[in-house]
Amino acid sequence: MTAPSPRKLIIAIDGPAGAGKSTIASRLARKLGYVNLESGAMYRALALKAILWDESFDDEEALLKMAHDSRIALEPTIGGNRVLLDKSDVSARIRERDVTEAASKVSVHSKVRAWMVARQREMGIGGGVVMEGRDIGTKVFPDADLKIFLEADPVIREQRRLDQQRVKGAPAEAMAAELRERDRRDRTRAASPLAPAPDAVLVDSTHLSEDEVLERIEALVNEKLAATRE
Ligand code: C5P
Repeated sequence: MTAPSPRKLIIAIDGPAGAGKSTIASRLARKLGYVNLESGAMYRALALKAILWDESFDDEEALLKMAHDSRIALEPTIGGNRVLLDKSDVSARIRERDVTEAASKVSVHSKVRAWMVARQREMGIGGGVVMEGRDIGTKVFPDADLKIFLEADPVIREQRRLDQQRVKGAPAEAMAAELRERDRRDRTRAASPLAPAPDAVLVDSTHLSEDEVLERIEALVNEKLAATRE
């Protein structure tokens, strides 16, 4: 008799910018044959639309209306998520500095978040997903099979971000200050502030290589998969 195939898990990876979520989530998804969904890309797409439509980042009702009239889709590819806003490919544009800043601002609004959470649940509910963001384990999938909260020392996170951005020629001091401010906004907002779910496994990547972080998380995934077979 062949062993029953394991259930397809929902894996949540949350944490601040620069902790290594995106790389780990995408490598893990590839190894498991799951899809990697970057929830931050959805906030970025909505923020881009607000820039294009000249909407205020503070106007919650206008942002919500805009969200209702938008189609934001994530198409997982080997190189990351292809992001479509109203059918246009905005994958590269949403990584630019103005959108990064705007995404941090539009995401403070509870009604905008509720709209996003509903879309994200639709995308991940079938399982076989690694979804990463700030509130996946606390709000989007509070019953996720495995919740990881990936942290790292702020100085290291800033350094990693600077290394990534240096190619784009961004000024180092300004980038670090912006990262700190986005972090502060994520952690202190009233609606779903960035915090580990009570049952999340904390992984501190400060002194770990990417491979080591991945190994640790894979071990946790394998435990879960084994438990679903029992
Ligand atoms: O992860 P990423 O940096 O692409 O996310 C962009 C912004 O969207 C973050 O700065 C954060 O404020 C917001 N975000 C969020 N909740 C998520 C994912 C992202 O508030 N689940």
